[in-house]
Amino acid sequence: MTTRTCPACFGAALTEFYAVGRVPANSCLMLGDEASARDFPTGELRIAACTVCGFITNTAFDPALTRYSEDYEESQACSPRFREYAAELIAAWVRRYDLVGKTVVELGCGKGEFLTGLIRAGVGYGIGVDPAVRLDRIDPAVVHRSSWVTGLFPDDFETIDADAVVCRHTLEHIAPVGAWLRSVRSAIGPRTDTVVLFELPDVVRALREGAFWDVYYEHCSYFSPGSLDGLFRRSGFDPIDMRRTYDDQYLVIEARPVPGTWPVAGLATGAGDRDAVLAAAVGFAAQAERTREHWRERVRKIAAEDGRVVLWGASSKAVAFLATLGEDARHIAAAVDINPHKQNRYLAGTGHRVVGPVELTDIAPELVIVMNPTYTDEIARDLETMRISTALEAL
Ligand SMILES: [Zn+2]
Repeated sequence: MTTRTCPACFGAALTEFYAVGRVPANSCLMLGDEASARDFPTGELRIAACTVCGFITNTAFDPALTRYSEDYEESQACSPRFREYAAELIAAWVRRYDLVGKTVVELGCGKGEFLTGLIRAGVGYGIGVDPAVRLDRIDPAVVHRSSWVTGLFPDDFETIDADAVVCRHTLEHIAPVGAWLRSVRSAIGPRTDTVVLFELPDVVRALREGAFWDVYYEHCSYFSPGSLDGLFRRSGFDPIDMRRTYDDQYLVIEARPVPGTWPVAGLATGAGDRDAVLAAAVGFAAQAERTREHWRERVRKIAAEDGRVVLWGASSKAVAFLATLGEDARHIAAAVDINPHKQNRYLAGTGHRVVGPVELTDIAPELVIVMNPTYTDEIARDLETMRISTALEAL
C-alpha cells in the first residue's frame, strides 16, 4: 500500500527522504522464542514529508502488518523516572482542567496505568479503550470506577461523552491521522466543554540528530509542533496549549472542540515550523548514516577485544537500533529491561533475548548502550547497586 496524499492536510505533496527495505513490522511485541522473533513479519520504511503542512509519514505503511494484542508490551511504568513524569502530568491535568469527580475517556490506554493514576488522583470515572488492555492487570482499587474496552476507536467505541479525552502515544501509530482526529471530534458531538489532551513524540529532535532508532514501522505518523497544531485546527479543535516535555522528547497538546461544523474553512495549512522540519528532513538520511557508522564501529571494536555489549531498554528504539545496525547487531549480547513482562522473551527482527538486570553479573558487559538518555542516571544507579563496572553510553 502506498499513500501519496498527505493524511494530515490532504494535500498531494509528499516527498520521500529516508527509506529502509526491511524492518520488523512490530517492535513492542515480545516473542516467546528466538526463531519466531527472527521470522517476524517485516515491512518497509518510506518516510516522506508533506511540503504543505510539514507532517511526516511512512508512505509504505500497511496497517495489516501491525497487530496490537494482549502480547503487546508497551508499558514503561517500571521505570521510576517514567512513573514520576506520568504522576506529574496526571496532577497537572487534574488540577488545570478540574477533573476531580469527572469522567475521562482514554483512547489507546495500553495496560491502563495512566487512567488508573487519573482515577486515583480524583477522576470520578474512567473509560479505557485499547486492543492491548489486560483486565487481569487492572488495579482492583479502581475497577468499580472504570470500564475497559478491548478494541479500537472508533470501531469498537463510537460516542465520547466525557469531560476529558486523553490520548497518549497513540496518534503516531495511526496512518489516517486527519480522518481519525475528525472522528474524535465527531464522537464528542455538540459538547464543547470536553478537553482533549494528547501526548506524542516530537519528530524535530530525532530528525536533527539522525536518530534512526526513533523511526520505526509502528510509528507511521510523525509530528512537529506546527504540523500537530495545524492538524488539530483543521479537525475542529482549538489548541489551548502546546509544550515539549520529557527532555524535549514528547509534545503535549491540550485543546477544546470548536462549535459548529468542521473542518474550518479558510485555515492556512502551512505550519509555523514547516520549513525547519523540511530542512531537517533533507539532512536526516546522511546524519542517520553517520550515527549508524559510529555505533557499528563502537560495537565492532569491543567485540574484537572479546568484550560484551548489551542494550538497556528492550523498547521499540532497541528493535529499530538493532535492525538498522545490520550484521553488527550480532555483537550485542542481549537487551536488558526492568519490566518483568519483557524478560526471557525475544525482540522482533534480530531475536535478541531480553534479560533482567540481575543477569548482568554473569554477562559482565564492557559497554551498556542506553536506548533512552532520559534513563541514564537511573541505570547508572542500578549498575552501581549491583557493583557492575562498565562503560555507559546513551544514544
Ligand atoms: Zn500535509
